[in-house]
Amino acid sequence: MRIDPGATIGILGGGQLGRMLSVAAAQLGYKCHVFDPAEAPPAADVAAHFTRADFNDTAALKAFGDSVDVATYEFENLPVTPLQVLGAKLHPSSRSLAIAQDRALEKQFIEDCDARVAGWRRIDSLADIQTAVAELGTPIVLKTRCYGYDGKGQAWIREAADATSAWAAIGEQPAIAEAGVDFSAEFSVIVARWADGSHTIWDSAENEHREGILRRSTVPCSDLVAVQLAEAREAAVGLAEALGHIGVLTVEFFASESGPVVNEIAPRVHNSGHWTIEGAVTSQFEQHIRAICGLPAGSTELVSGGAIMDNLIGADIDRWPELVAEEGAHVHLYGKGQASPGRKMGHVTRVNSQA
Ligand code: AMP
Repeated sequence: MRIDPGATIGILGGGQLGRMLSVAAAQLGYKCHVFDPAEAPPAADVAAHFTRADFNDTAALKAFGDSVDVATYEFENLPVTPLQVLGAKLHPSSRSLAIAQDRALEKQFIEDCDARVAGWRRIDSLADIQTAVAELGTPIVLKTRCYGYDGKGQAWIREAADATSAWAAIGEQPAIAEAGVDFSAEFSVIVARWADGSHTIWDSAENEHREGILRRSTVPCSDLVAVQLAEAREAAVGLAEALGHIGVLTVEFFASESGPVVNEIAPRVHNSGHWTIEGAVTSQFEQHIRAICGLPAGSTELVSGGAIMDNLIGADIDRWPELVAEEGAHVHLYGKGQASPGRKMGHVTRVNSQA
């Protein structure tokens, strides 16, 4: 069903991704209604309506659902069951959300789709970790099954003796243990899929992380990644297909010697796609709105030779006066009040001039 401009799009989550979705939706003539428990989330500043309520508040969710024509989400750490009140208005569906928010379900799903993942085990106890170390070897990384992001909820085990401290470091929560991947690069494939099964895909960014947080995305990617792209794209499209996903799906990969290894999937627009705002004909945000509203796909072609996106993390934000004075630098500030270490405060994209 097509949702025409003028309609209202509900966005669960009011962070910077919701903010950029809302701006893209407004450009196409839609209004947005943001739902978030925070007092003044970044997306609320640029949306027509804002509901402040807990994600478990089904009465508030029901009223929100009644007030919108279609609903979407901008992050995956949402309780799934209360979203049932949104019914068929929710895109992507709660199935994409349920799988992507639990690392054990996610790994199993990716394996079932025949895509490559690092060796992994379910962890519910210290004894499970010791078994995983014995079977997978070291290094391995423990990741909490739920509520991890930007490297949070993770602990590395470099040798068997680290097991106890790593288990404590993740709060002794249900987790997965994953073999450390010896990768030459990290990259992402971002797919947008429509209800009729058609899809678009952007050039892939090569991503640099520090302390588990994305710092820089570069397009085009290096040759190391380029040779793995065909297989990675096929895997990403296969995952979107198997989910019956509607909207943007991001698949993060390691470029390893044996080929592309899926690290994780995000059922949403992604930080590694921010470069598309100025670097591609249609941004990931606009394309997501087009896909969930049933509008035709926009072109994902590069507007020039490529782009580099740098995140402004924590105190990096203090550099804004020099960045806004830099010719050609596209500065995005998320309107978050207080900077703290590791907090994503904004980003800057520089589009390559050479075609
Ligand atoms: P994640 O939250 O799973 O995306 O992990 C954050 C970052 O930690 C990744 O982008 C990698 O740089 C690193 N990392 C995560 N899992 C592994 C792994 N199995 N092997 C090597 N590095 C990893």
